[in-house]
Amino acid sequence: MRGVLAAAALVALGLVAGCGETREPARDTESRGAGTPSGRLSFPGANLLLISIDTLRADRVGAYGYERGTTPFLDELAESAIIFEDAYATSPKTASSHMSLFTSMLPTEHGVTNASARLGIAVRRVAENRPTLPQVLRDANYWNVAIAGGGNLMEPMGFGKGFRGHKPNAPSRFFSRLADVRAMVDNALDFARRIPQLDKPAFLFTHTYQVHSPYNSPRRYRERFAPDSSSSIVGPIARKLHDTPGVSSLAAVELWEREDEFTSADNQHLSDLYDAAIAYTDDELRRFFDELATLDLIDPTIVVILSDHGEEFGEHGNYEHDQLYTEHLHVPLIVRLPGGAHGGTRVSGLCSLIDVFPTLMELLEIDGPDTMQGTSLVNAIKTGATDGLAPVSEHVMFADHYRATRRTASSAVMFDAAAGTVEGWDIADDPRQLAAPTDGLAGAHRNNGEQLNVALVRAFARRAALDAEDAGEAVPLSTEQLEALEALNYVESETVLPEGTPLDAWPHDG
Ligand SMILES: [Zn+2]
Repeated sequence: MRGVLAAAALVALGLVAGCGETREPARDTESRGAGTPSGRLSFPGANLLLISIDTLRADRVGAYGYERGTTPFLDELAESAIIFEDAYATSPKTASSHMSLFTSMLPTEHGVTNASARLGIAVRRVAENRPTLPQVLRDANYWNVAIAGGGNLMEPMGFGKGFRGHKPNAPSRFFSRLADVRAMVDNALDFARRIPQLDKPAFLFTHTYQVHSPYNSPRRYRERFAPDSSSSIVGPIARKLHDTPGVSSLAAVELWEREDEFTSADNQHLSDLYDAAIAYTDDELRRFFDELATLDLIDPTIVVILSDHGEEFGEHGNYEHDQLYTEHLHVPLIVRLPGGAHGGTRVSGLCSLIDVFPTLMELLEIDGPDTMQGTSLVNAIKTGATDGLAPVSEHVMFADHYRATRRTASSAVMFDAAAGTVEGWDIADDPRQLAAPTDGLAGAHRNNGEQLNVALVRAFARRAALDAEDAGEAVPLSTEQLEALEALNYVESETVLPEGTPLDAWPHDG
């Protein structure tokens, strides 16, 4: 009975706060979010549901303009939610990007990189002086549960910190093996059904690799989105991969071993299989939300749906997500506020996944850690536009292949430490960066190039200062964790960071 009353109180809280904006009396100068033009937008004590659909490009979502009907559920949800049109990941790699989401820091600052099955016998665990979102929510009396697909989203890196089980003494669930999105939804619902009995608000983090390669989905989705084509390499391998239970990971290796032979028909078939997996995921999310609605859990909850990075199908000569172009970094960011407040708003302008943590802190009226580097987007929700944000993204996975990029409304610049170059693209005319780059430190790119350098110098200095206190620890991986990495094709990467700083390779005038 006590639980029922608590649930009723939570719903009431959601409804009161969910009326939208409340007039804010003048606050002292230390108040977060001071200076907002039209009062405070906040939902203290609301539940939080954060859904990460690994590897989902923004431009494959209907609400972002895709016309293939891959995401009817997300498109419907978007009508009562806020769409951030130009959100960018901090990294194309799962571990780095998710830890940026959890810490509001660039990968260089939090220090967590993807592991590899062959070489990554140990990973770096995020240091205690870089507090994570679940830790902060736990300290604010939230009951935190993670239902995550594992792989590079693993507990040894510190992703489990702040989470607890869905019942006393039960562990959180960072699966060490790739799980079907159906299993994610089943497990998430298993916890969601207990939320009305909790005596505190809930934070549920869910994550799925369903749209990650090898782009698996039930046959009916593949028949609809990826009917047999003239693909001579991908088609036969994919059929073996998807129709033979248990063969999945080995066939995925076979697939990428032949990528040099792929024709445009093969690229198209990969892309179609990816669409099929998105459509399947979208249908499972509908099943998830249908039950959340019957549990009366949607209106008292802040829902955030995003991805950690995009995916390439040969646009820049490669596959999967190992570069820093638009298709690798432009991700969906959809936020549904309690009661559908500001629903239907489309926020223009750039933002980054490091802005999500400070946004949630402001919405929940929790004092976030001062290590956060992002900017709260609450004001952008009110005005419909972000203001002057310029996302920086890094690829720090390879010792000798450090790369970083910075994006403004008109320019994208990219630093490649191995080549010692900074290149630029005119984003206004060439949003997909398909034209040949020009000098990223000259002409229209000059300021952006210089600002990228400033941002990186700051990031490396901040990391050095934090590391001097606590650099985090190396944590060995289990056989099961290494096998899970192999299943995701993370077999060849080096995780050793270079001596000194890759900024030593920054090109200087004269
Ligand atoms: Zn990922």
